[in-house]
Amino acid sequence: MQQSEESSNPSRSQARSRSYYLRHQEELKHKNREYHALNKDKVLAYRAANRDKRKEYQRQWHLKHKEHEAAYAKQRRLLFPEKTRLISRRSQEKRKEAARAAMKIWRQSHTEELRENLVRWREANKEHIRDYALAYRARPENKERHALNQRRRKALLRSLPATLTFAEWKEIKAAYDYCCAYCGEKPEVLSMDHVIPVSRGGGTTKDNIVPACLPCNRQKNAGTRALMRVVGGNEGR
Ligand SMILES: [Zn+2]
Repeated sequence: MQQSEESSNPSRSQARSRSYYLRHQEELKHKNREYHALNKDKVLAYRAANRDKRKEYQRQWHLKHKEHEAAYAKQRRLLFPEKTRLISRRSQEKRKEAARAAMKIWRQSHTEELRENLVRWREANKEHIRDYALAYRARPENKERHALNQRRRKALLRSLPATLTFAEWKEIKAAYDYCCAYCGEKPEVLSMDHVIPVSRGGGTTKDNIVPACLPCNRQKNAGTRALMRVVGGNEGR
């Protein structure tokens, strides 16, 4: 790599070492690989200590061999189109991954700024956000999800457990055969009712939520009402 010792006639010594390299190419490659395998830590330490130097050397090398490299690469692409495609796809994925990773780091070091941006954006798009949320909630498939989120938030605001999932809510409704857990009627709309109300420490969990018709849900004697039997013998919730 360095020519300081042979500076008297660099081109001649370069030619000599090049011809030596070409004659012993395989052997040298093998030796090199062996050395790397045996001295991994040493090699890595050297690389880390000389990162800038190595980078600069590589840069210079590429500059010097630019045309040759381009021609060689072109030849390879023509000879191995499949492999070329694979390599380009892989490097594309790698670049994407690297970009994602870099973005993540950037976000982590700009949380304050991002939060402010979000607040500003929300402020500027208030109406749009509200309209979007209303339209989203109005869709039948989202109505119940919204209701569930509200129940969960209610519990979380009091630091109560809020583990009920949408799938669990569906199971609970089925277990009650889609009837109100208190009066046994089958209403059009089944609401989620906390057996032990949040105000008395009941969480939004699968053991504390039952389906209820709206009139039963609105009754204020919460926690003292008798539950209907659960269909399928799943009593004792
Ligand atoms: Zn009812």
